[in-house]
Amino acid sequence: MTAVRKVAVIGAGVSGLAAAIQLAKAGVEVDVFEAKPELSALGSGISLQGNALRVFDALGAWDDIRAAGYPFEGLNLRAPGPDAPIVAELPDIKTGGPDYPAGMGMPRPALARILLAHARNAGADVRFGSKLSGLETGSPDAVEVIVDGRGAGEYDLVIGADGLHSTVRDLIGIEQKPQPTGMGIWRTFVSRPADVVRSELYYGGPVYIAGYTPTGDDTMYAFLVEKAQDRFAVSAEEATRIMLDESRAYGGPWNSIRADLEKGARAHYTWFTQHLVTAPWNRGRVVIVGDAAHSCPPTIAQGAAQGLEDALVLTELLTSRDAVDQELWEEFHTRRLPRAQAVVEASVQLGQWQIDGNRDADAGGLIFGIAQKMAQPA
Ligand SMILES: Cc1cc2nc3c(=O)[nH]c(=O)nc-3n(C[C@H](O)[C@H](O)[C@H](O)COP(=O)(O)OP(=O)(O)OC[C@H]3O[C@@H](n4cnc5c(N)ncnc54)[C@H](O)[C@@H]3O)c2cc1C
Repeated sequence: MTAVRKVAVIGAGVSGLAAAIQLAKAGVEVDVFEAKPELSALGSGISLQGNALRVFDALGAWDDIRAAGYPFEGLNLRAPGPDAPIVAELPDIKTGGPDYPAGMGMPRPALARILLAHARNAGADVRFGSKLSGLETGSPDAVEVIVDGRGAGEYDLVIGADGLHSTVRDLIGIEQKPQPTGMGIWRTFVSRPADVVRSELYYGGPVYIAGYTPTGDDTMYAFLVEKAQDRFAVSAEEATRIMLDESRAYGGPWNSIRADLEKGARAHYTWFTQHLVTAPWNRGRVVIVGDAAHSCPPTIAQGAAQGLEDALVLTELLTSRDAVDQELWEEFHTRRLPRAQAVVEASVQLGQWQIDGNRDADAGGLIFGIAQKMAQPA
């Protein structure tokens, strides 16, 4: 017995596909509507903490994900300068428990491909090129989904996993939206020098943070976090030049990153945002999860992990109860809101200390406290 028989998931990002996998595995009919015409073959990398890896295991996707990524333990801090000296080697907390590595990096397109394959194998119907444009919520028991202006069917529940600029959030009248935090990030996907075997961060120098994370035997992504600027109209050549210039203060593996940029690796720019929708995340039989409900700077790399946990907890409740009622929503919000809030607040605080140049702040203590919290199952 499940609380739902037919569910529409809006958005085929990590949060939406995780929800689709769990519901389809439990025998629920699931249609996923994704606005993009197809999975993107391009993209940077992502760091996945142990608590995200634990969710992949619950989905049944962990073996495939581990094989496509680069698991690692620990974090190195390095200083600017030609030799990029290592100034600290920090242990990680295994937020997923002892059965999983502390973290791993992987290419985003590989993660998307694996989750899509698992959703389809479980029986979910994932439809690309299908943009949600409306919801009819007049009935207490069903929601009509409008895709590209046309009725696409009636569902017991709609899960809005449609990201930062969520249409579902707008359609159900939630007004909280992502706000810029004041930081922008340059990212590039490059080859991995043999001596890069874990994430490394550089504090000091011309940007707030420089760093990179291995994503595979031959690949890694590198980034520079700067004061947010209007960079959105810069050409591809100009973007590469900025990343080259801003990284010149950093030696060591950065020499290899610059060589790849000079050979044509692309540089991409985006701003960090933050928001947290205060409970409830649902209006009747429509609920938002993942970046639609909360966003934060990736200062502790927990954004995707939180979306995965939203999906896991919601689907656990939907497949273990027999009604979508107030009790279900109360348990969902009790388990999810404080945890997402702790991550958003800590991530924003870490960025703000950088912006303020606060060198006395106990960043290590804050990161450790959040990691301990995340080590408890969601
Ligand atoms: C610079 C940066 C670095 C980050 N690094 C990390 C990291 O290292 N580790 C980490 O855990 N997190 C990281 N994050 C956060 C992480 O990327 C997000 O939290 C996560 O991808 C959110 O997943 P989602 O499925 O909720 O949303 P999304 O991935 O945004 O997916 C939403 C999907 O919905 C689709 N969609 C939108 N509107 C519609 C519509 N109307 N109809 C149908 N489909 C629609 C979109 O096309 C998209 O495919 C980072 C974020 C940023 C900005």
